[in-house]
Amino acid sequence: MATATQAVTLDQNVARYVAKPRKMLINGQWVDAASGKTFPTYNPATGDVLAQVAEGDREDINRAVDAARAAFDQGPWRKLSHSERSRMMWKLADLVEKHAEEFAQLESLDNSKPLTIARVADVPGTVDMFRYMAGWATKIEGNTIPLSAQGNGKFLAYTLREPVGVVGQIIPWNFPLLMAAWKLAPALAAGCCVVLKPAEQTPLTALLLGELIQEAGIPDGVVNVVPGYGETAGAALAAHPKVDKVAFTGSTEVGKLIVQAAAGNLKKVSLELGGKSPNLVFDDADIERTIPGAAMAIFFNHGQCCCAGSRLYVESKQFDKVVDGVSQIASKIKIGSGLEPATDMGPLVSQEQLNRVCGYLESGFAEGAKATVGGKRHGERGYFVEPTVLVNTNERMKVVREEIFGPVVTATPFKDIDDLVAKANDTEYGLAAGVWTRDIAKAHRVASMLKAGTVWINCYNVFDAALPFGGYKQSGWGREMGHEVLELYTEVKAVCLPIS
Ligand code: ADP
Repeated sequence: MATATQAVTLDQNVARYVAKPRKMLINGQWVDAASGKTFPTYNPATGDVLAQVAEGDREDINRAVDAARAAFDQGPWRKLSHSERSRMMWKLADLVEKHAEEFAQLESLDNSKPLTIARVADVPGTVDMFRYMAGWATKIEGNTIPLSAQGNGKFLAYTLREPVGVVGQIIPWNFPLLMAAWKLAPALAAGCCVVLKPAEQTPLTALLLGELIQEAGIPDGVVNVVPGYGETAGAALAAHPKVDKVAFTGSTEVGKLIVQAAAGNLKKVSLELGGKSPNLVFDDADIERTIPGAAMAIFFNHGQCCCAGSRLYVESKQFDKVVDGVSQIASKIKIGSGLEPATDMGPLVSQEQLNRVCGYLESGFAEGAKATVGGKRHGERGYFVEPTVLVNTNERMKVVREEIFGPVVTATPFKDIDDLVAKANDTEYGLAAGVWTRDIAKAHRVASMLKAGTVWINCYNVFDAALPFGGYKQSGWGREMGHEVLELYTEVKAVCLPIS
């Protein structure tokens, strides 16, 4: 693993953006926290403070929810025509595109993902999400329903899909801007009003997005952005009695707290949670394509992906070749700050994540696992971890059972397909899976047997605004993206009247 050096020159707007303490967006105003407090966001490549940000708490959440409530109940958003909403969302997409480089740099600074990745994945994915959902704003339809109970033709019955109301959205730090878009776009398309709480580790791009939301003409109070800590601002939002729905992406552990907090007013809940996704390689796979695919499945975004292909199962004959190939790729990954153009992999997002991932590595070694590559922290400054492949693992080890959320993959050989599928499904999670084979019938057969919300065949990490994403089992409730997500942001109203 080499270290990349030589950072890009920072865009002047980005340099200016981080130089000043950032405020929060409530009811169209940029305001300080009610408490006057700020909190630091750090540059994960150095551990230095990057910017100060207003620290939202219960009081700020109350103000933001009141603003969203008024914008929804009396305000303009619901009353605008669907095409007008669509036009504003499209304009927002154009504005994000216009400021693409600023967003990419700011994301790379705050999260320390490679700038090259932010440019080709996070920012275009955000633009596409707003455009895709802008299209849906004019296409959310009900049905007419034939009734039999009173005899044919005596009633006209139909359904309306109405916005669910005020939505609290709590997002993580691994794709800060993109997660904001995955959450905001369907809510806006459906006609909901939102209080968005970005992750405390990475609040900056969601705040910059707030500025463009205003510029796009989206009325005051429709989107409020309140940065702050999970245990305070997040918990207040999840429990708030005037919030109709909470949408959360993050750990399964916190997801369970969200469910409990939401129980007070039985608000609707959708959850996109953790994973321990199996990636299955058969002897008959195109190995030259599979090896880089399996490496990308785990090392993309430093393994900080809920759907990371973190359990690699390889049919016995190809096991050594695949493990060797993935290990070689890992050994060549250039580690460095996200802003250095040569960087393939940045640091983890925080000291906490560094401790967590290193803790898992130690537990794996203590239980008998061996690293073919990596296995420890990289350097002494920043939160870097070496991309790691672990062998000699078994199904009881913590590194095989628990989500590590770092660049660590376990590799296990298999012989029997039924045993393989049983192992692949032997997890509390069910977010994603990969299957690599040239036998297409087998690929579909295995895909049908896997308990996962997404199965990638001969590919991995393919996302699209049109493709639903979400989990079976403890990986979550509901689906993001595609038209499926609109069900999470709409209520169905059945209307019927006698016509004879
Ligand atoms: P991770 O473990 O990946 O850091 P978390 O699930 O802790 O992810 O955090 C995801 C989001 O949930 C963040 O915005 C965080 O502030 C928020 N959060 C954390 N704890 C709570 C909580 N108790 N209630 C509501 N939100 C929370």
